[in-house]
Formats: sequence, C-alpha cells, structure tokens
Amino acid sequence: MLNLILFGPPGAGKGTQSEKLIATYNLKHISTGDLLRAERQAGTELGNQANEYIAKGELVPDAVVIGMVRNYMQSHAEAAGFIFDGFPRTIPQAEALDQMLNEFNTSISMVLGLEVNEDELVKRLLLRGQTSGRVDDQSEETIRNRFHEYLNKTLPIQGYYSDQNKYHGINGLGEIGEINSELCKWIDSVN
Ligand code: AMP
Repeated sequence: MLNLILFGPPGAGKGTQSEKLIATYNLKHISTGDLLRAERQAGTELGNQANEYIAKGELVPDAVVIGMVRNYMQSHAEAAGFIFDGFPRTIPQAEALDQMLNEFNTSISMVLGLEVNEDELVKRLLLRGQTSGRVDDQSEETIRNRFHEYLNKTLPIQGYYSDQNKYHGINGLGEIGEINSELCKWIDSVN
C-alpha cells in the first residue's frame, strides 16, 4: 500500500494537491476536515459538536477524529492506499494512525510537507472565504487562531516523522502544476 500524509498549515494547498494525487496514484482521500463538514451538513450530533470547535479555529478532540478515520479505513479496506489530508494534527493522532495502519499490516510511506509562510496563508484563506462558505475562513482572527493551533499542536508531528526519516518539505509557493510535479518526484522515488 502507498500511504501518504500531506502535511502543512491551513491554506497550504493540501486539498488541491490531494485531488491531483488521488487521481495519479489511485488512492483514497481521507480529509478529516471534509468528513467533519459532511457530518455538519447531515446535521448529526457529532457534526454539531465539532462545529463549535471549527468555528473558533480550534482542533476537534482527538477521539472524535480518530474514530472517523478508523471507520473510513475499515469501509475502504480494499484501497490501494490512502492519502491523509489534515490528519494527523496532534502527536496522539499520529500514534493512533500508526497503530491503525499496523492493524492493516501496512505503514506510512512518506510525509510530504507543503511549506508556506503565515502572511501568505492568511491572504489565501481570506480570499477562499469569499467563495468557500466556510465559517472558519471568514475572519483574520479565526484564521490566525488556526495557524497558532498548527504551530502549537501540529508542527511537533514534523519531528515525529523526521525521526523516522519519512518527512520531506516542499516549497508550497508557486504554480499548482509545479508543486504537483515536485510531490510526484518524491512519491516516485519510493514507489
Ligand atoms: P481543514 O479542512 O483540514 O482545514 O479542517 C477544518 C477544521 O476542522 C480544523 O480547523 C479543525 O477545527 C477541524 N479538524 C480537521 N481535521 C482535524 C484533525 N485531524 N484534528 C482536529 N481537528 C480537525
């Protein structure tokens, strides 16, 4: 199995690049943000509870997202591999993911990080907010809060995977196609 994590701060381009990679490598896309928004859309209790965190730019509790990822993986057990987008976002999530993949007799192949500076991210997300309809793309305060959650809770994961020689950082500024080529180059080097 080819199991990739697309890593990076909010607005780095993880969703855009995931869409391209799932087509090229025939992978299943797991975006915990998309799964949470779908729960919200369906009006489930989980969706409503999660939305209180999302609207403030805070992370949803680990147990909630880990459970969602587990369900998704179990219902797509035939997949050739997964691309994780927006998950894991904390060290306990990364540890739980290792354990889940172990149960599938597989592991993370590599972690590709899209590196973009904070001011560019704020600009991109405010622009996206004009059309995305996402509650968390509307104000600079919420966007900066998401970025600070990223620095405090998510960035330590980079070290977790660097220690396993699985992390590769890529410049996330530039043409979508060029960034995609760069990602494919890394993936093809292990695939
Ligand atoms: P995203 O679409 O990945 O930008 O996620 C939007 C929001 O959903 C985040 O700001 C969090 O509130 C929540 N969320 C998504 N994925 C996770 C995760 N792995 N852990 C905790 N919260 C998450």
